[in-house]
Formats: sequence, structure tokens, C-alpha cells
Amino acid sequence: MTYAPRLFLIILGLSVFLSGCLIEKAPAPISSARSRPVALGFGMHVTANAKDNPIDPPERFDGYHSGLDYEVTASELDQEIPISAICSGSVLYSGFAEGYGGVLTQRCVINKESVTVIYGHLDPDGLAPEGNVLAAGDRLGKLAAARSFWSDQNRKHLHLGIHRGEDSDMRGYVQAPMELEEFIDPAVVLSRGARGREVSVYRVPEAKK
Ligand SMILES: [Zn+2]
Repeated sequence: MTYAPRLFLIILGLSVFLSGCLIEKAPAPISSARSRPVALGFGMHVTANAKDNPIDPPERFDGYHSGLDYEVTASELDQEIPISAICSGSVLYSGFAEGYGGVLTQRCVINKESVTVIYGHLDPDGLAPEGNVLAAGDRLGKLAAARSFWSDQNRKHLHLGIHRGEDSDMRGYVQAPMELEEFIDPAVVLSRGARGREVSVYRVPEAKK
């Protein structure tokens, strides 16, 4: 190989390496993210049938999961779990939505792409109002209690979704794998310690009576 092409390859390799380092990585939306169990990741196909779902017992949804779910520990069931923004941008929607209970969506630009971030299953108390401009890391609310109106009768957990573009599309599941392309896997965007601890099964803790 002559000198010029070799130099070209070195420069190309170096620029790919540098751009990889320079891509911004989002902070975690929840505390203890590094050790927090994540059983239901992006793109996973589930049904309401226990054998087709890593959540035990499963929720009622069918389809391809378009986000990443952060779970809680048994001791967190009666604790306040704050949720914070993973990026900087304004609150597009803040209120109730079918399937989530309390939900907040936020407009952001992540790695030069306009996206709408979905934070699902939130308590209305202290939820950031529409139009509020949040910086990455700012508190936006807290998780709703398990099996309550504001978790839409779901377990206590955070659904984090990232939809491409500026439309309000809050789907937590899609029915065809191709539709997943309208969403971004949060694990790709989050910093290394923010993606949770992957587990194959998550047993939902029961509230003390
Ligand atoms: Zn989810």
C-alpha cells in the first residue's frame, strides 16, 4: 500500500473514533440506575400471557415494547421515587393518558435529532406543567403508586420511550416490528451507568397489606 491511502485510512479511523467519543450521552431518569432491574427492554415482544413476558405477573399489553422499563425494589413501593429529565427541552404534554395514568412528554434534540421523550406512570403531584423548560437532570415528577389510577393499574415502574420527530406519539407498544423504527432504543442514548441492570425476569413485589 502506498503512503496516501494509508494516511487516508488513519484519518478516517481517527475521525470515526472521535465522533464516537463526542456523541452526547443522556443521564439516567431515575436514581440507582446502574443497579436497577430492567427486564422489559426496547423491542421485546410480549403478550399478557405469563410465558411470553419477563414481568411476573405480566401487565395486560400485547406487542413490541417501544421503550425501556425501570423497575423498583420492594422497599421502594412506599417510597417517593423522583424522575428527572434525560435531556434539555420543553414539556409538551403533562397529564393523564390511557395505558400510563400520569405521563409527561418532552421535546428534545438528541444527537442532532428532534425527538419526543415519554416518561410514563407518573403521579400528578409535582408533575412539571406543559411549556416548562427542563434541563437534563431536572426533576419532572415522581412515580405513581402501584395499581393506582395514576399508574393506570400497572405495577410501579418507569416507562421511558423516545419517539423520533416532534409528533405526540405515546405508544408504549407497537404491533409490527417495523414500527419500532419510529422510536429510538433509550439504551443507545443513555450513558453507560444509566441503562439499568438487565435481568431476564422481574418478579413484581407485592405491597404490604
Ligand atoms: Zn414500558
